[in-house]
Amino acid sequence: PTTLVTGATGFLAGHCVDQLLKAGHNVIGTVRNPAKAERLTQALQSSVDSGKLTLETVKDIQNEAEFEALFKKHPKLDYILHTASPFNFTAEDPEEEMLKPAIQGTLSVLKTAKAHAPNVKKIVITSSVASNLDVATFYDPNTTYTEKSWNPMTWEQAAEKGNPFANYMGSKLYAEKAGIEFRDKEKPQFSITWINPTYILGPGVALDMSALNTSNEVLANVLGSKKGQDPEGVAGWFVDVRDCARAHVVALKPELDGERLLLATAKFCTQDIEDIANKIPEFHGKIAIGNPANREKELNHASQCDASYSKKLLDIDWIPFNKTVEDFANQWYEQHK
Ligand code: NDP
Repeated sequence: PTTLVTGATGFLAGHCVDQLLKAGHNVIGTVRNPAKAERLTQALQSSVDSGKLTLETVKDIQNEAEFEALFKKHPKLDYILHTASPFNFTAEDPEEEMLKPAIQGTLSVLKTAKAHAPNVKKIVITSSVASNLDVATFYDPNTTYTEKSWNPMTWEQAAEKGNPFANYMGSKLYAEKAGIEFRDKEKPQFSITWINPTYILGPGVALDMSALNTSNEVLANVLGSKKGQDPEGVAGWFVDVRDCARAHVVALKPELDGERLLLATAKFCTQDIEDIANKIPEFHGKIAIGNPANREKELNHASQCDASYSKKLLDIDWIPFNKTVEDFANQWYEQHK
């Protein structure tokens, strides 16, 4: 099969590309940043050389003309993984920088695939647990989120200036809603599955530690700390990036058409990162140690996720948190020593 991955230079997308290639797919990846494209090419050189991986420039995912040209150039696409979406907390103009790229980016892929990619059977869209959560109970350990939960945020809240967290959450919520509306109204020839991950963490295929993706900063903040420092405490749920990519590939099967899959392997907190990292010889005794007595309190500063429905459907052997942290730490160390 031939599969298109949007935003191929992204942290998650790199693993999606890698796993699709390993599963025998031909992969077309869209890219917008030549330096990041070069890193990915180097990491997956043999697939590029053999013609299994082709990178194509799509400067703006909102631009339907660019996708139309892409689909005309590659008329035999079977599947699409739409992962590209802005993920940062720096937007100054929320509508232009977060909401529109997420929503129009999704719609331009769906619209042009319907019109110009008749062979596409399935599109898997990366949504987020941000589309399930409610900011009012985000930190409440007595609230449990599932695949059925929906973020009740209004458009005004999503577009609020000076609130980048809400802007990101809203971008994922409204992009997911736009996709559902498109499917229901336009009845395209392909089916859609949404993947809603919690914190995606772990090593990258072509990760540049000097321009790290947003979620891995929770790990880097500990690895880059000094002994005696106290990095900001974070608690939440995680999925290893390799499992998240695996879920995108498994979701291509027709049995998972229309599903909204929540990915949450386990709960973690900054103390766990400190405990695991301090057992790695390169970091032992050099970085923050936190206070193990506070672990339970820290863990309680986050709501619960019950992803058992998705876990049953996906049947993945989920990578545990210590391996996620260790593998990322090794990569971090290689680029910092
Ligand atoms: P990255 O920032 O590494 O990847 C985002 C990708 O989207 C990059 O390839 C980026 O391109 C591309 N992109 C962003 N904005 C645009 C735009 N306006 N036009 C074209 N391309 C754009 O983050 P992740 O890999 O972590 O995120 C991948 C997906 O997973 C996103 O949809 C994100 O919302 C979702 N997600 C991530 C979670 C996490 O914890 N990491 C949790 C839940 C969901 P470029 O490489 O050129 O910057």
